[in-house]
Amino acid sequence: MRLSQFFLPTLKETPTEAQIVSHRLMLRAGMVRQQAAGIYSWLPLGHRVLTKIAQIVREEQDRAGAQEILMPTIQPAELWRESGRYDDYGKEMLRITDRHEREMLYGPTNEEMVTEIARASFRSYRDLPKNLYHIQWKFRDEVRPRFGVMRGREFLMKDAYSFDVDAAGARHSYNRMFVAYLRTFARMGLKAIPMRADTGPIGGDLSHEFIILAETGESAVYVDSHFLDQNLLDLPVDYDDVAGLQAAVDRFTSFYAATDEKHDATAAAQLGERLLSARGIEVGHIFYFGTKYSAAMGLTLQGPSGDKVVPEMGSYGIGVSRLVGALIEASHDDNGIIWPASVAPFGCGIVNLRVGDAACDAMAGELYAKAKAAGLDPLYDDRTESAGAKFATMDLIGLPWQLVVGPRGAKAGTVEVKERKGGAKLEMSIEAALARLAGA
Ligand code: ATP
Ligand code: MG
Repeated sequence: MRLSQFFLPTLKETPTEAQIVSHRLMLRAGMVRQQAAGIYSWLPLGHRVLTKIAQIVREEQDRAGAQEILMPTIQPAELWRESGRYDDYGKEMLRITDRHEREMLYGPTNEEMVTEIARASFRSYRDLPKNLYHIQWKFRDEVRPRFGVMRGREFLMKDAYSFDVDAAGARHSYNRMFVAYLRTFARMGLKAIPMRADTGPIGGDLSHEFIILAETGESAVYVDSHFLDQNLLDLPVDYDDVAGLQAAVDRFTSFYAATDEKHDATAAAQLGERLLSARGIEVGHIFYFGTKYSAAMGLTLQGPSGDKVVPEMGSYGIGVSRLVGALIEASHDDNGIIWPASVAPFGCGIVNLRVGDAACDAMAGELYAKAKAAGLDPLYDDRTESAGAKFATMDLIGLPWQLVVGPRGAKAGTVEVKERKGGAKLEMSIEAALARLAGA
């Protein structure tokens, strides 16, 4: 993509309405545009990141055996009356009436709808286990939408729903999601810490929140700092290995980690200096709630010996749009965003310091063509701006690599390769630069 053609409405001034760094940087980098309180349009740079995050989530859900569906955003109130949540949910639910005076709502979550789908289609215990997920916009009329996309009213969530014959099966489904979550966040360069949580309005018996540490996090958390030394990509991925998965879950829940509500000061004190008191952002939340919805909504299947089975269920959420802000909170400096390569909007930036100079244009053009051919997804700054302005834009939008072409290098046949994280710079040939990026 050529920057001269790319829609990137960056801001020079720091927006005053933004209280935290991720919100400020997302507005300055032209990633989103607020349309109403807590409701955003995603502009090309932001949309690219959102799509990459959703794709990592999708790949890890699929790997763990979940199957993707797509349920609508608008739901009939009737379903929520069946579970009893229509009245309970309160003002966070956006209620709508259609032209026929039918009561509808913009879904804040989908337990009822997915249970209805199961009720319409599952007949026997042989139809289980199943885990169905979608990546869809939700609406919750939050009292105080704030921090940009981190606490929006409309936000993108991945929500998965598991159905099992019995509690042991449900536990295995829970464990699959638990491990998939650790892997998902680790692929984005995040250490998400699983913490025992209350089940809240979803209800149920077992629940973990996945929390990343950040100064601006809304929750106070207490963590055994040794958790942070764990390599979370080093996890079993045989999702059928019941005992292996349970061992992995046991291992990662053996570290002390608790939010304010669950904090046990006496137990935590035993950790001594290992105890970290910090703030965190919830990026995911998983629940096992047994037959709460299946029983209420009459989801009953044929059992193995002519008996009836009421499926055991769980639900599993990831805040896909919240993650865009959370990633920036976790990775930025004074000059802007520093994207981990796995979610970066482009693989690298190419900066032509002297557009109009024949040697620079030729070299930058060659670099751009070769980087594209190598699948490095480059963003080529071919604008006639000052070098300072170009460097500032590249640092702000946070691509992992910058390839800088200037008159001196063009003569010597070299480009300057700058790694955004850490800022290390090296002069090398085009070929060496491309090999360096491809190998990174
Ligand atoms: P919170 O405690 O932050 O209000 P929640 O417990 O209400 O979240 P869940 O119902 O567990 O949220 O939703 C699953 C995930 O969706 C959360 O872990 C979070 O990452 C994301 N999420 C929830 N509410 C919002 C919101 N208002 N804006 C953006 N993301 C959200
Ligand atoms: Mg939660």
